[in-house]
Amino acid sequence: MILDLADLGAEPEADVCIAGSGPAGLTLALALSRAGRRVLVLEGGGEDYSDESQELYRGAVVGHPYFGLDFTRLRYFGGSSNHWGGWCRPLDAVDFEEKPHLPHAHWPIRRGDLDPYLEAACAILNIEPVFDDTRVGPEIDRIRFRFSRPVTRHAQEFRPEIEASDRLAVVLNASVTGVEMEGGQAVGFEVGGYDGSRRVVRAARLVLACGGIENNRLMLHFNDRAGGMLVREARTLGRYWMEHPHFAVGEAAYFSMPEGQQYFSTTPERQRRDGVLNCGLRVWTWMGEPSYRVSRELYCAAPRLAQKLLSRTGVLGPMTCITVLRAAWEQEPRAENRVALDPSVRDRFGIPQPVLHWDFSDLDRRTAISAVLAFGEHVARDNLGRVRVADWLLQDAPFPENDAIGGNHHMGGTRMSDAPEWGVVDRNCRVWGQERLHIAGSSVFPTGGHANPTLTITQLSLRLADHLLAQG
Ligand SMILES: Cc1cc2nc3c(=O)[nH]c(=O)nc-3n(C[C@H](O)[C@H](O)[C@H](O)COP(=O)(O)OP(=O)(O)OC[C@H]3O[C@@H](n4cnc5c(N)ncnc54)[C@H](O)[C@@H]3O)c2cc1C
Repeated sequence: MILDLADLGAEPEADVCIAGSGPAGLTLALALSRAGRRVLVLEGGGEDYSDESQELYRGAVVGHPYFGLDFTRLRYFGGSSNHWGGWCRPLDAVDFEEKPHLPHAHWPIRRGDLDPYLEAACAILNIEPVFDDTRVGPEIDRIRFRFSRPVTRHAQEFRPEIEASDRLAVVLNASVTGVEMEGGQAVGFEVGGYDGSRRVVRAARLVLACGGIENNRLMLHFNDRAGGMLVREARTLGRYWMEHPHFAVGEAAYFSMPEGQQYFSTTPERQRRDGVLNCGLRVWTWMGEPSYRVSRELYCAAPRLAQKLLSRTGVLGPMTCITVLRAAWEQEPRAENRVALDPSVRDRFGIPQPVLHWDFSDLDRRTAISAVLAFGEHVARDNLGRVRVADWLLQDAPFPENDAIGGNHHMGGTRMSDAPEWGVVDRNCRVWGQERLHIAGSSVFPTGGHANPTLTITQLSLRLADHLLAQG
């Protein structure tokens, strides 16, 4: 059923109470209710977009320019699935490995722990569960993305099932504003309505699923209010936040036109050898223009440049296409990149606004360079063309401000770890030291790979559902 906070009974009964109805929260809620559990989802927004709800997502950014925090996510039923693009790919096995150049940042689980959930997650996201990557060069793989089509908008897609269910209730306009503590343990969520009402909802299990920025903001605030009793080892809380940097990192002159869009990544061996992270390259033909026309236009506009480019390649065959090499890569998880609170600016519920500190590191730069070089070596070896690394990357210039910059992928801050001093949740997404409180979503990622996060978020929610069901 779907109801408003004003219509929620005095003592709602739920085995599991979930804050947030985005992909993380709804996937978990549906899996649990299908298995017979009573589930209550508290959604801070309403049925549709409203300024009243969205303004609660305001915040500031310090460091490299980033999207407005109230622009890069949506705060209503279905969350950011209402505007996501549907790009899907699971994390690679190498993303879960410990790496000497990433001390204290690794997953306490392996890809094999998520694989059993791949097929079900793909069914939810309307994609084929086949990711048939191919090794095309000694250090380059051609990789497969899948696109959610028709794109899964979770609230619309699962509305009929939620409406028909007597075990699953989604409560709209119900913002979680605090946690109720008893003996150092979280036992319920404090809920605020837009009319100023406040109440507490208790359940045997609590799950925070409010997105990769908000999970951090709320946990920081709740922990402050609980005098540090919610997350007792809070050293990493809010920190090691990550995005996927999205930039044009070079150009490729191709002699044989690749068909359509192609995606590549550096092999794990190359990543290990260069001491870098995972990087995806996107090779798209320029605006879909026929290649001969692009070459002709280049000759007309800049004949010397075109000749120079061709003579440098040393190949007699006609250049057929020039493409921009775009990359989206794994960002180094660094303590400096974090969500913090600004107590001087508070929202209508008294919660401090978030301040996102975000910038790039030398490892971020080296990861992109290594990928372009590996790709360049591949196309040169097979005489497919030649590649040029972008000047700003090689010359240590600042990262551009007029590019895509990021993917709206908000990861880390309440990361998963195998000991409380290195993270906020354990391998089962349970907050260290808490019996009932769990976190769902990409804020638990200790590292982010280069793949878009929602497929992994969905796998993790299905795994969390199994864990909660096994606990009884
Ligand atoms: C423009 C854009 C394009 C994207 N494209 C892709 C893509 O192609 N592929 C991909 O994998 N990912 C993509 N993403 C990212 C994707 O949208 C997120 O990974 C996904 O939505 C995260 O799911 P979530 O449930 O963790 O969080 P969200 O979707 O953010 O959901 C959080 C929910 O919590 C609710 N909430 C927040 N605060 C409270 C509170 N205090 N109390 C109660 N409820 C609350 C919100 O209203 C919302 O419903 C894109 C994102 C954007 C913005």
